[in-house]
Amino acid sequence: MCRHLAYLGEPVPLDGLLFDAPHALCRQAWAPRDMRGGGTINVDGFGVGWYPGSGGEPVRYRRATPIWSDPSLMALAAATASGAVLAAVRSATAGMPVTEGAAAPFAEGRWLFSHNGKVAGWPDSVAKLAERLPVRDLLTLDAPTDSALLWALVRDRLRAGAEPGGALAGTLRAVHAAAPDSRLNLLLTDGTRVAATTWGHALSYLDGPGSLTVSSEPLDDTPGWAEMPPRHLLVATRSTLDLTPLEAP
Ligand code: GLN
Repeated sequence: MCRHLAYLGEPVPLDGLLFDAPHALCRQAWAPRDMRGGGTINVDGFGVGWYPGSGGEPVRYRRATPIWSDPSLMALAAATASGAVLAAVRSATAGMPVTEGAAAPFAEGRWLFSHNGKVAGWPDSVAKLAERLPVRDLLTLDAPTDSALLWALVRDRLRAGAEPGGALAGTLRAVHAAAPDSRLNLLLTDGTRVAATTWGHALSYLDGPGSLTVSSEPLDDTPGWAEMPPRHLLVATRSTLDLTPLEAP
């Protein structure tokens, strides 16, 4: 299944996270260590979103190709530094299209979102949840995939004023109730806060001085990496980190 990461802290070059770290996202694409629930490699697209130093909305670069096959990305990543990043590599769930729009991060305004997992019984299991969304949102999904619909559900809660952790937890509970065997590792940032869930897949975090990295798999052998317990919600800034259990409804 997909691999994703988020970083908050002092600006770092993107190529460190994507290519240079010993177990950088590129390596997790072709040699992941902890795939669960099917899938072997993550070659069906990638995306990276980062917040420019000038502030404001994130810049996003996505493609429907393996992350190592894009020569523009390597040059771009080497020349770009950012203090807030969300990036993902994708292993398309069987039956879902391989298109640029299906690759995370999904975005609106300052928000960037990614999903690692699968909605069980897609799409019928979540038809009732989708019906509650504005029809405009359904007609403008980035792709006809479970992850794009999950983003629309999370975004709906954010627009209604939910906090990032609440938007993820509320969406996860609703989807779990409708489609109990789903895998729902969700990741969300606005450039100052990160929220993430573990629900069926691995996720680790490195809580450094003044920085936070969350990643499906540790990027290196730094001793500070901790594995998030299953079925938990992480809400963090550069200097705070809260882990809370996500109770099943
Ligand atoms: N189901 C999602 C998709 O197809 C996410 C896949 C994954 O986590 N591998 O895009």
